[in-house]
Amino acid sequence: MNPIQQFLFIFLLIFFGYILLRRITIIKRNILLGEKKYKTSAKKKTRLKNLILIAFGQSKMFKKILPAVLHLMIYSGFIIINIEIIEIILDGILGTHRIFNVLGMPYYNVFISVIEFFVVLVLISCVIFLFRRNFMKIDRLRSPELKGWPIVDANLILVFEIILMLAILTMNASDLILQDLDRYNSTGNFYFSGFLKPLFINFSEMSLVILERTFWWVHIIGILLFAVYVTYSKHLHIFLAFPNIYHSDDQEKGKMNNMKSITNEIEMMMGLSSENVEEPPKRFGAKDITDLSWKNILEAYSCSECGRCTSVCPANITGKKLSPRKIMMDVRDRSEEIGKMKDKGLNHNDKSLLGDYISTEEIFACTSCNACVEECPININPLDIIIECRRYAALEDSNLPPEWNSMMQNIETNFSPWKFPIDDRSNWFKKDV
Ligand code: SF4
Ligand code: SF4
Repeated sequence: MNPIQQFLFIFLLIFFGYILLRRITIIKRNILLGEKKYKTSAKKKTRLKNLILIAFGQSKMFKKILPAVLHLMIYSGFIIINIEIIEIILDGILGTHRIFNVLGMPYYNVFISVIEFFVVLVLISCVIFLFRRNFMKIDRLRSPELKGWPIVDANLILVFEIILMLAILTMNASDLILQDLDRYNSTGNFYFSGFLKPLFINFSEMSLVILERTFWWVHIIGILLFAVYVTYSKHLHIFLAFPNIYHSDDQEKGKMNNMKSITNEIEMMMGLSSENVEEPPKRFGAKDITDLSWKNILEAYSCSECGRCTSVCPANITGKKLSPRKIMMDVRDRSEEIGKMKDKGLNHNDKSLLGDYISTEEIFACTSCNACVEECPININPLDIIIECRRYAALEDSNLPPEWNSMMQNIETNFSPWKFPIDDRSNWFKKDV
């Protein structure tokens, strides 16, 4: 590699590194827009266990075997292939060619062949995923909330990965021929790209050098672009799934965290306590993302938009407008919007999460069944956000469905959801009444 290429490489590394760092700072700031306190109830041992089993082991993915295996192939490929990036970066900075081989790494060609094995696995998985997404009628991949950018994003990343994988194989195949021509140091055969050699065997030496260098650059620029692009994409889950799972709760599904000041108020009403020592919160429930916790927003940024939650949601299945996936997408979109406003020095606009992104029709369609929470492969809890929005609608906005309002009134006056006094609640089974 000549000094101009070396300089260009270092410049690109710094340039993309700066953009990436900026994006990470923005995302962290956006996640911390959530002001509600959050602390996981899970002990450290449980959190580490979750990290190993659910994050690294992807245990919740294995409910359906085909997507799980394909996903595992891409995920393991992503980790292994990135080891080669270390060599590419060192070569780019130092101006060397295959530095690990030059330094005498034993079984270098076996190492590259193993990486190529994962390259092929990723290639196959991406092609199958593209086919599934675009030509098979899988309901969860065709929901209305995926129209527009989300579907483009999902396809784009698959095409992107296919190009990157082909770049590695083409680069290695042309490298092998150049080794045969004594242009590059010998490494021994690479198992998979070795099969591609016949495609390029009649190329002139100069064409092969151009081919090899072009795909080397395609590969590294592709990786740098990918790193920045991911921060705008649902594929951020590749990184954020880990902290999200680590911080997830382990309390029984179905158990709701009551609002202390309300609980105290009711206890006072029932004569169980004499004073409400709890300070009422600034706002009951959530109207906007600033009323949520950082964990809710971290979950939104971690969501892979896979739709497994929506596919089991009874409200969605029975034709209601609610989709837990959309709830997570809305929280993320709104966080990005507020983040951009803050960048412009503005604190408010006339929009809010509840009302402009999520409608009351959606939140009141939820049965609180927790199926979405159970199903999510990375422990996201859309129900928590729905409950917070409902609390706002009920306690701050008095915007409940009419039938809920009369139920609430009955509870307040009769201590019972029905219209008759509490003492008459069990009359229905008494014979003489
Ligand atoms: S808790 Fe609500 S959003 Fe989640 S699956 Fe049940 S009904 Fe759907
Ligand atoms: S919340 Fe979980 S299950 Fe639902 S779309 Fe996001 S990652 Fe998938």
